[in-house]
Amino acid sequence: MADKTFLSWPFFDERHRALAAGIESWCATNLSSEHGGADSGARGDLDAACRNLVRQLGRDGWLAHTAPDPRRTATLDVRTLCLIREALARHDALADFAFAMQGLGAGPISLFGNAEQRHWLARTRKGKAIAAFALTEQQSGSDVASIAMTARRDGNGYVLDGEKTWISNGGIADLYVVFARSGEAPGAKGISAFIVAGDAAGFSVHERLDVISPHPLARIAFDRVRVPANAMIGGPGEGFKIAMATLDVFRATVAAAALGFARRALEETLKRARARRMFDGALADLQLVQGAIAEMALDIDAAALLVYRAAWAKDSGAARVTREAAMAKLFATERAQRVVDKAVQLHGGDGVRRGHIVERLYRDIRALRIYEGASEVQKVVIARQMLAGG
Ligand SMILES: Cc1cc2nc3c(=O)[nH]c(=O)nc-3n(C[C@H](O)[C@H](O)[C@H](O)COP(=O)(O)OP(=O)(O)OC[C@H]3O[C@@H](n4cnc5c(N)ncnc54)[C@H](O)[C@@H]3O)c2cc1C
Repeated sequence: MADKTFLSWPFFDERHRALAAGIESWCATNLSSEHGGADSGARGDLDAACRNLVRQLGRDGWLAHTAPDPRRTATLDVRTLCLIREALARHDALADFAFAMQGLGAGPISLFGNAEQRHWLARTRKGKAIAAFALTEQQSGSDVASIAMTARRDGNGYVLDGEKTWISNGGIADLYVVFARSGEAPGAKGISAFIVAGDAAGFSVHERLDVISPHPLARIAFDRVRVPANAMIGGPGEGFKIAMATLDVFRATVAAAALGFARRALEETLKRARARRMFDGALADLQLVQGAIAEMALDIDAAALLVYRAAWAKDSGAARVTREAAMAKLFATERAQRVVDKAVQLHGGDGVRRGHIVERLYRDIRALRIYEGASEVQKVVIARQMLAGG
């Protein structure tokens, strides 16, 4: 059983504790770490598993938190998103992915969309439309402001041309929020954000990408894709600001997923250390093993403090939580990798056996240190914040 003592921290309200219990019991009933889709290797199975998870999460109301209905809740509650991601990640990386992308993909619309654009949210929060966030290009990953894809004004709309790569849900998404150079200024100030439907004429999937923790991922192409003027989210030239503000909100949730992986690794290690007999005792009796367990627990609690500080700060009305979110993401993902590595080590040969839970966690955690801003980028962000503000 995962440690739940953190729920008594002052970052949470009673509703968060109730939600944490609810998602835990939902995971226990609906998910299995033996999930076929994530490891099957067959792309059709993976796509079907992902679609199914989105449907289930929508059916049972969890996706409602990824894009709140303004008639009920005004804004995204980041603590809620983090608690849900933590629980899903502890049980099943693909379920966490399915949930996270509905939030990130629809994020620019939730945060900046107009009334007409927000109609998409009624579908994403019910799991009836799958969302994707298309920012990265082959030549511009960390250097986001250098994107080359173009959006040319044409009559009463725009024409999009170019390619995006590493796009999660690429190939199965119903809507893509796409960032393209609309030319108001060089660099970051000349980028706008557009909504493109997955069945738009001229849109295609060029290549599906296989990664060590599989989820639907693709290189996608736009060949004279025409969109109406109202497909633009925010104003011309506001795309970079929209992308960064969206990542600011969701970055802490990546850290929460890392925390979920780390907690699962510690749980598995505790079970193993108690059960494994050696040297006339248990693995847990060895003091070097106890030292490793103490370090794992410490990394997890310290990461949790940073994750929920960032989430609480955002929920408490901070306009931006750039420093807090960057610290949470950097620390939680790096330390989760360390925690999972210790879990693999303490499982001996079983730890590297394909399909073993800790072997899966070892693969699941890795990409989180790269996407939504690599660890080095988070360090630069933190340092800039410190140098600017003191
Ligand atoms: C599994 C996965 C899912 C993804 N999903 C999406 C998605 O849905 N949408 C989307 O738009 N993108 C997505 N991405 C892309 C992701 O955001 C980029 O991979 C990431 O931004 C890094 O860009 P890059 O791969 O081009 O690496 P590069 O930009 O080439 O960077 C390579 C490495 O250089 C180092 N580095 C970078 N900047 C600095 C710096 N300032 N100082 C020192 N070192 C530095 C880091 O170690 C970095 O990992 C995904 C990526 C992965 C792996």
